[in-house]
Amino acid sequence: MAKRSDQSDHPRPPRARMSDVCSFCGRSSREVGPIVEGPDGIRICAGCVDLCQTIIRQERRQATGLAPLPDKVPSPRRLKEFLDQYVVGQTHAKRVLSVAVHNHYKRLNHIDSEDVDSSVELDKSNVLLIGPTGCGKTLLARTLSRVLEVPFAIGDATTLTEAGYVGEDVENILLKLLQSADFDIEAAQRGIIYIDEIDKIGKTSQNVSITRDVSGEGVQQALLKMLEGTLANIPPQGGRKHPEQQYIQIDTKHILFICGGTFTGLEDIVKKRLGRKLIGFGSEDQAEESAAEHARVMEMVQPDDLVEYGMIPEFVGRLPCITTLGPLDEDALVKILTEPKNALVRQYKRFFEMEGAELEFQPAALKHIADRAMKLDTGARALRNVIEDFMLELMYELPEAGADGQQYVVTKKMITSGKKPTLQAALTRKKESA
Ligand code: ADP
Repeated sequence: MAKRSDQSDHPRPPRARMSDVCSFCGRSSREVGPIVEGPDGIRICAGCVDLCQTIIRQERRQATGLAPLPDKVPSPRRLKEFLDQYVVGQTHAKRVLSVAVHNHYKRLNHIDSEDVDSSVELDKSNVLLIGPTGCGKTLLARTLSRVLEVPFAIGDATTLTEAGYVGEDVENILLKLLQSADFDIEAAQRGIIYIDEIDKIGKTSQNVSITRDVSGEGVQQALLKMLEGTLANIPPQGGRKHPEQQYIQIDTKHILFICGGTFTGLEDIVKKRLGRKLIGFGSEDQAEESAAEHARVMEMVQPDDLVEYGMIPEFVGRLPCITTLGPLDEDALVKILTEPKNALVRQYKRFFEMEGAELEFQPAALKHIADRAMKLDTGARALRNVIEDFMLELMYELPEAGADGQQYVVTKKMITSGKKPTLQAALTRKKESA
């Protein structure tokens, strides 16, 4: 038995023992690992310590009275303007999302306010974004959460499983949201969750796994419950659920779900439905015409097409806002390199400025970087790899180069030569000292 730590002048730190029972959850150290013993024979296990921390964080949060939502929800126009600062193109998707998100949070404020008109029920507008890899789906969702200052979490539908199969439980996405809200349950319940690769859990999906339920339908059912609104039990430490665990309850009724997927092959389903109506899309420039046709066809996606694709009707029904994003062309990639607030080129320039130097990219060089990224077929995602690979030597040398006052230019020739340029190769001239 431990001595009471408050009986001496120098309290003994609590000790960990292996043969005790946790006073909080009643489980033995054999089940839960080391247990810490405090005064009066009180003992606590690691799981209960975690839970206590969560409770204390929540209490602190509530005490500081942080409002989980801005009182006045930004207008759709304001939201789109904010998105424009970070996301290039995708105008239609930005508008659809801005309206959906504005209405969603206005609805929440409306529920909170006193003068609720019970004769009108406003539905939640979860969103489905359809578009190729690396075209900005995740970026749009993340940027919206930033402007609204609400917690945000990303889940990948392909890693999810129905309970009982190997993989992640659907509830783990909620845990991520809770972590992003710093364990403020109130805030988490008004957050945004982005679920990627939603098309991969279609019933007819090719990506079947032997460890996951083969049809993907079970995962859709589990996700459907979250989308509809349910009281979910979240294991505070993550991982698989087990019966003796203690849970945190989260109500998903007011969480905004944005789902994204590439839906390869959906175009054919839409075309089949449209049938003869498609005649008349012909044009001289074949590549241009096929891209334009693809965009036009995808804009006509209907919920039924998604059901045909393999999504269960109830699931599609819970995603009333459907919008498509187009692939990014070379011009868009150049803009992504240079225009957004966190554009890669701007970041490199800033690093050079920090050393008192200047860095320029010739427009032709940027076009070439964009062109190289396009060939990798992963949209704007490839830009970072391409430019980082190219800039490696320069960034390696820069901090020790004594570059203060120097000017550097990245030219097209440097990129086409196939060799990684050195800092010396990019040096054009020493700035004249003022
Ligand atoms: P996905 O459509 O596959 O979800 P992401 O949104 O994750 O693509 O994009 C990957 C990265 O590519 C982003 O982090 C961002 O840097 C860049 N990116 C993609 N699309 C755009 C865009 N439209 N505007 C600006 N950056 C973009």
